[in-house]
Amino acid sequence: METRQIKKDNAKLFVDGKLNISYGDLSNEEFLSAGDIIRVTYADGEFVGHVMITFEQKTLGWIVSTDDTVAIDDAWIADCIREGIDGRTALFNEAGTNVFRLFNDIGDGIGGMTIDNFDNHYLVTYNSIGTYWYHEVVQHTLTEFSPESIVIQRRFSVDGKMVIENEMVYGDVSYPIIVEENFLHYYVHLLDGPMTRFFIDQREVRKSLLNSSHGQTFLNLFAYSGSFSIAAAKNGMTTTSVDLAKRSIELIRENFIINEIDVDAHAIYIMDTFDYLRYAARKGLTFDCILIDPPSFARNKSKVFKVERDYPKLIEAALAVLAKNGTLILSQNLESFTLNQFKSQIKRVMGDLKRDVTMKDVKGLPKDFKTSPGYKRGKYLKVVTLVMND
Ligand code: SAH
Repeated sequence: METRQIKKDNAKLFVDGKLNISYGDLSNEEFLSAGDIIRVTYADGEFVGHVMITFEQKTLGWIVSTDDTVAIDDAWIADCIREGIDGRTALFNEAGTNVFRLFNDIGDGIGGMTIDNFDNHYLVTYNSIGTYWYHEVVQHTLTEFSPESIVIQRRFSVDGKMVIENEMVYGDVSYPIIVEENFLHYYVHLLDGPMTRFFIDQREVRKSLLNSSHGQTFLNLFAYSGSFSIAAAKNGMTTTSVDLAKRSIELIRENFIINEIDVDAHAIYIMDTFDYLRYAARKGLTFDCILIDPPSFARNKSKVFKVERDYPKLIEAALAVLAKNGTLILSQNLESFTLNQFKSQIKRVMGDLKRDVTMKDVKGLPKDFKTSPGYKRGKYLKVVTLVMND
């Protein structure tokens, strides 16, 4: 088996448990192919781990085992997936929820790949060409769990060009389907582009909107298919959803209808968030609770939105329409931006605006989005709830 070495200068990171091999970590990166399993050692020959070469944008591969005696082969990969799924038994048995993650990247032992369960329809996302190399064994293993269908999403560069494509590889279903979370229903479409109409990772936030009091009126910015609005509406709030994309109108209305909520009692605006906030301020509207869940990056005509740069402006504009003693729920999902950075950014804005605010809680990924201390960026989701004292 092929053996490569960690550069001396980079060794400390691996002694400390780092699991992602970045470009430049190895003393020699030549002649590696996607899907290769190699042995990696320190310069003195001491074993570091077995590495799967995945060729992601920032990651050359992942340490999948630090046990020199195991063989990383199809049987090992199958076992790793079975273990991930078996670890979710509690979720399979939970009443009122049938949508959750079955396998989460390096948190479950293999980086560059996730598997989601949408009411027994599985979505395998291959974030790397290296994990896609193993798609046959992955699919074969998943069929042991009797899914109704399996869709794969390829999400990696081929010849330097990023492609995102979905394909049903098992079963025969016509989408959309309806899934259930906390006894609420949501449409899901696994063959309609990169997004599935439902983001599983925000489960804790929807739960809080459904179960805790956040006042009477709710503004959902970057609403997409409106899942936060559904949860808030079911909790008795009057909601306003804002999204730039025209398709949101239908997606949100359909979700309201299957939850037996009167669509006409809730507002939907197809508008740029900043334009909407200006409009609402002009009209003198206020909201008891405002949730902001922007994408990391978006383009609207000539304007570019970058979450790490532009979040302060969003907070400032939202505060102009937040009711006295209102609640702000701020979500940020950029991997490279830590919770501490996000908290400092929020503090700075509130300080600059001389606002008195209490940080009520911080939510993150639900437990099925298992992460590993060896890859801190895996904890990408940060949702901070703030209550204004003025
Ligand atoms: N909060 C949603 C997910 C948001 S996905 C949920 O939990 O389901 C990001 C959304 O932001 C997309 O629907 C996109 O259309 C929208 N978007 C991007 N730029 C925008 C802008 N400038 N104003 C309003 N919406 C925008």
